[in-house]
Amino acid sequence: MKVPYFDLQARLRPLRPQLDAAIARTLDNCSFCLGPDVAKFEADFAQWCEAKHSIAFNSGTSALHVAMQMLGVDPGAEVITTPFTFIATSWAIVYLGGKPVFADIDEATMNLDPKLLGRAFTARTKAVLPVHLYGHPFDLDPILAECKKRNIPLVEDTAQAHGARYRGKQVGTFGVMSGYSFYPGKNIGACGEGGALVTNDDAFALRAKSIREHGSSTRYYHDEIGYNYRMEGLQGAVLGVQLPHLTAWNTRRRAIAHRYHELLKGTPLRLPVEAAGCESVYHLYVVRHAARDKLKAHLEAAGIGSALHYPHPLHLQKCFASLGYQPGDFPVAERAARECLSLPIYPELTDAQVELVASAVKSFQDW
Ligand SMILES: *Cc1c(COP(=O)(O)O)cnc(C)c1O
Repeated sequence: MKVPYFDLQARLRPLRPQLDAAIARTLDNCSFCLGPDVAKFEADFAQWCEAKHSIAFNSGTSALHVAMQMLGVDPGAEVITTPFTFIATSWAIVYLGGKPVFADIDEATMNLDPKLLGRAFTARTKAVLPVHLYGHPFDLDPILAECKKRNIPLVEDTAQAHGARYRGKQVGTFGVMSGYSFYPGKNIGACGEGGALVTNDDAFALRAKSIREHGSSTRYYHDEIGYNYRMEGLQGAVLGVQLPHLTAWNTRRRAIAHRYHELLKGTPLRLPVEAAGCESVYHLYVVRHAARDKLKAHLEAAGIGSALHYPHPLHLQKCFASLGYQPGDFPVAERAARECLSLPIYPELTDAQVELVASAVKSFQDW
């Protein structure tokens, strides 16, 4: 493979001496569940996010789950969300017995379309949970306005958007809470699983810490139903090694995206856009075309890895059959699922590799 779709080894190789030292320190101090490295990472990540609190979790899914619980999502509650995302966004809702209510996406950014949000609210709506998909902010101003009009809280799924900006301000604190993921493939990744709940609200922060530890802030007293959602000490240690690099990594992702843009404009592909006032961190670089499957095979034959995010929208997943959605309900999301193709984008890609990807795309004739 000339250009692998993703290369985690290339990310970790230069950090190896520091990672080894951080892991050895954890083995020495035996702080395996939370502990000082996790506490330090929480403080540093909150600062990096320009937020008051960051509470470390064992995954992004867990962080979103706890956010939904704190907003009172329960059987009978509805949460408005996007059908075009990774399934974990909806897990946070259904784990509590709540019902995801999907609204279609915007054709240009593939994020929840603010124009379609209004009609999704009902008397049972407890929260709105959009995703900053691919690292591009969803349209916060009109979505916040719809929420404020009805006094419904907004939670941001920031699992793909560490450091993205909307009108100059970092995403993740526009809503009442946000959920980050440190899955290894994200813009910053644990050596295993990890996540964080970020908020400016003191009460949510305190409660999230308790729910993450069996619903207990005083040992053996359990105020509400909780989970074992603690971040491992080892993950706090390795994330602490990576965090100082995250800003530069995001800058490099943006440079690669801009290079792709220059090289690929003029091809029949629909290229990613940055909406006015938005700064994407390009977790993914997703192009679109109806001949997606043929193009993917062509790239594969040329030694170029690619991937699909996401080929099957959530409203048509078997696990959600009981929600009663049909093909055709969200035509924009369904078309995006048929056309999307993710090209390699990670900070370690060389300029030569980026050019190789672009020339392989350009050599495709079968549009
Ligand atoms: C990765 C991801 C999650 C879940 O994060 P995990 O850490 O894997 O649990 C949630 N939402 C979106 C959009 C994601 O991409």
